[in-house]
Amino acid sequence: MRARTILLNNRPQGMPTDDTFKFTEIDLPALQEGQVLLKALYISVDPYMRGRMSEAKSYVAPYKLNEPITGGVVAEVVESRNGRLPQGAVVLGNLPWQTYSLSDGTGLTPVDPNLAPLSYHLGILGMPGLTAYCGLLFIGDPKPGETVVVSGAAGAVGTVVGQIAKIKGCRVVGIAGSDEKISYLKQDLGFDEAINYKTAGNIQQALAAACPKGVDVYFDNVGGEISDAVYSLLNNFARIAICGQISFYNATSPPTGPRVEPILLKTKSLMKGFIVGDYVDRFGEAASGLASWLKEGKLQYEENVLEGFDQLPHAFLGLFKGENIGKQLVKVADYSAA
Ligand code: NDP
Repeated sequence: MRARTILLNNRPQGMPTDDTFKFTEIDLPALQEGQVLLKALYISVDPYMRGRMSEAKSYVAPYKLNEPITGGVVAEVVESRNGRLPQGAVVLGNLPWQTYSLSDGTGLTPVDPNLAPLSYHLGILGMPGLTAYCGLLFIGDPKPGETVVVSGAAGAVGTVVGQIAKIKGCRVVGIAGSDEKISYLKQDLGFDEAINYKTAGNIQQALAAACPKGVDVYFDNVGGEISDAVYSLLNNFARIAICGQISFYNATSPPTGPRVEPILLKTKSLMKGFIVGDYVDRFGEAASGLASWLKEGKLQYEENVLEGFDQLPHAFLGLFKGENIGKQLVKVADYSAA
């Protein structure tokens, strides 16, 4: 069996380019006892992958040069010598960017194809949804009537954060990078206000107008000047969940900015960085909460799906250009058993 794969071709300095990725083909060996042959159906592209392309120490190991990029994949078992994972089963796993791959089943989670569209397991019912739920509720701890600000508001995590905050009875203000996104947040998702940081001019002034009672919870996906503007509006006992810092992921020198500590002190605020895996023991609660709200129509879900394995680099690079509304995915193949 031949498979197409995408290797890390070089370690990007600054923004990655097409040259960061190398397409190639490999021969997969015959299936051994205990193994499955997987066909990739949907492959996720995520901002954290940028960190893995560098060698810098982080919470997850760097990708190796000339080896396949890996990440969240929903795949179908097309051949099986593993009793737990029969042919036709659908699984979620951390798998190579490959059209087909072999696995001994370790780390693969079976997915019920009747529960929700398969792609949802990489988005609202998967890592981004869990990130939004755990970061907002376990760190942000929003109370009815409080003001919640979320940056990166129109993306996979941000859209879920804002909607959960609305469910919790908060005033929700989103920050995102296009008028289309602003309109989506307000008209479709019911955000109270949304600010286009690319055209707002003075973001601090725009935020102050949108948050007349100050900011109680800040869910930060982007960092940088957007966050500086939010910090100037913190109320006493504000909670800040540091989820992502995408504005720095392609930076070639360490970011600098105003010091936040005096504000945290004066407002007695809590700022906490987190990685979704920190909350693994609460994933059950989070997953069922998300699934119920989705079923009840309280959560809307948007995804931006590009078709074809060739689109993976483009889909990934698009995250840093703001090309996605909602979760960015690539559809690689149809589910044969559907
Ligand atoms: P998104 O779907 O939000 O996609 C990324 C978005 O970031 C883009 O659409 C773009 O939207 C925005 N963006 C890109 N560059 C910049 C910039 N320089 N300044 C401001 N905004 C920018 O991605 P996710 O929802 O998957 O992830 C959101 C954040 O959460 C990321 O920082 C990610 O690393 C982090 N994350 C953290 C996790 C954790 O466990 N802590 C888990 C999952 C994600 P726009 O048009 O608005 O600029």
